[in-house]
Amino acid sequence: MTIVITERSFPQDPASLLPAVNADNAHYWDGLAAGELNVQQCDGCRRPRYPIVPVCPYCGGTAWSWTKLSGRGKVFSWVRYARSYLPEFEDLMPYVVILAEMEEGVRMFGRLMDKLDKLPATMPVSINAPVETVIEKWPDGRCVPAFKLLKVKS
Ligand SMILES: [Zn+2]
Repeated sequence: MTIVITERSFPQDPASLLPAVNADNAHYWDGLAAGELNVQQCDGCRRPRYPIVPVCPYCGGTAWSWTKLSGRGKVFSWVRYARSYLPEFEDLMPYVVILAEMEEGVRMFGRLMDKLDKLPATMPVSINAPVETVIEKWPDGRCVPAFKLLKVKS
């Protein structure tokens, strides 16, 4: 499944906020630009992991491959920013960043793209609420993962 990519403009150039692309993480960044969410998977214990690190935190193995995530997960934790710490995000205030636990077990941070004015200010996000990954394309072409609440049919 390809993840939807949306373009985002910024009041200030956000390029300096992202880490440098190198041989170890290039596939992750290239995947995002192609609508895929790729993480490392240990060749020893087979567990996926994120963020990108040279040694498996579960078994200590150093051999790894890439694996593609489904993009689906649930809210593990969240924070609502009511004050801007970076001018690049001033126009988003207030906004929510979640820690999503993906179906495959890895946890990833990302901004929640849902409009906050449609969510209660005191408890905007429920723990375990289902989410799907969306990808934001920044002005310099780099893409970052973000999340959107999945509608639960009742
Ligand atoms: Zn391992």
